[in-house]
Amino acid sequence: MRMYDIIKKKRDGLELSHEEIEFFINGYVDNSIPDYQVSALLMAIFINKMTKDETVSLTKAMLNSGEIIDLSSIDGIKVDKHSTGGVGDKTSLLLAPMVAACGLPVAKMSGRGLGHTGGTVDKLESIKGLRIALEKDEFINIVNTHKISICSQTANVAPADKKLYALRDVTATVDNISLIASSIMSKKLAAGSNAIVLDVKVGSGAFMKNLENAFELAKEMVDIGNSMGRNTVAILSDMDEPLGYAVGNSLEVKEVIESLQGNAPEDLMELCLTLGSRLLILGNIVKSIDEGRQMLKETITSKKAYRKFIDFIKAQGGDSNYIEDLSLLPQSKYVIELKSNCDGFINKINAEEVGLAALCVGAGRETKESKIDLSAGIILNKKLNNAVKCGEILAFIHGNDIAKIEKAKKILENSYSIGERNKNDKKLIYGIVEINGIKRL
Ligand code: URA
Repeated sequence: MRMYDIIKKKRDGLELSHEEIEFFINGYVDNSIPDYQVSALLMAIFINKMTKDETVSLTKAMLNSGEIIDLSSIDGIKVDKHSTGGVGDKTSLLLAPMVAACGLPVAKMSGRGLGHTGGTVDKLESIKGLRIALEKDEFINIVNTHKISICSQTANVAPADKKLYALRDVTATVDNISLIASSIMSKKLAAGSNAIVLDVKVGSGAFMKNLENAFELAKEMVDIGNSMGRNTVAILSDMDEPLGYAVGNSLEVKEVIESLQGNAPEDLMELCLTLGSRLLILGNIVKSIDEGRQMLKETITSKKAYRKFIDFIKAQGGDSNYIEDLSLLPQSKYVIELKSNCDGFINKINAEEVGLAALCVGAGRETKESKIDLSAGIILNKKLNNAVKCGEILAFIHGNDIAKIEKAKKILENSYSIGERNKNDKKLIYGIVEINGIKRL
């Protein structure tokens, strides 16, 4: 087999066989196929798309390129949650202690931020001493003792995806449904859970900007998961405005801790209840959505989820004083206000631009090598549909470099659209995709 022929076949719009896909993935991982040939193939895939069979073959080849984690020594059904990526998306950090407090084991491998979207592992590094790179045995022991552990993905899980993703990032081939679906599902299938709940984001801050593409991506991932014996469900949720108010690592951790203390932003809590009740059903903890929502709400009022979060932080070597005294979290030197220059209602907040403003002050990575400023980011003071008066604060920019803050302020200014009327068309959940069908809400 020759890589040249595989590129040519895809260039001409033909379907690749399982063997051809396996050949290119294995060759890329063992360095026998160079970046430039894989780049050419990626662009041919991007332009001509992949069939369902090709996407499943690509997922399997990437899954089999590394270690498949065995979670069988953890008692109970293991259910994983994954978001396709968003701005201010701190859902995993709040949801994990909530479902763990209901008795569902959470053995979660999380990633770092990508582009304008944040990552759970970066956020957790705001807490002094917290170890994220755990050996497998320690990870499993912590879950068996506390029902919750979050660690970074080991280098050996789906290494083909790691290499391919880095190449897609620099060859403008990220936002293709088959490439995203196989990338996410290869990692989720390798992470060893029995069932998977996917949070497929749609809107300006998501990889999928429109609803039809988001449903297509969700269907593709649900089909892959179920065809490989994992009960997989996808919820489509809004990412047209950021989730909650905080965007940026320590700012989001602070919002999560306040949420665990009973002061969650409405959209963040509603998303946790929607995803969490599905997780509890798949994990055989409850029989109905209503029962699940009730149980999850109770973990907040009783402070069980808050205590679970503290147990998790301590078990991984973190300093729990950072949870009890939020002023210990990384703080930036400057906090600059962005004010409205008119009266009206917030008609739009472009989540991608808010993410880019946060990136600009250092909350994300410009390049793979960039170091994150954990204290930097944006706190929204006004969300969609809120009334605003001229001179009122729209958002606060946290940063350590005035020039970067000024640049971020310009981006943020453009992300807000203020109109005379309230649009009133805010929606958080757009639909559910399961093995037996799609439900639009
Ligand atoms: N997240 C992933 O892990 N992979 C993608 O391709 C996109 C988002």
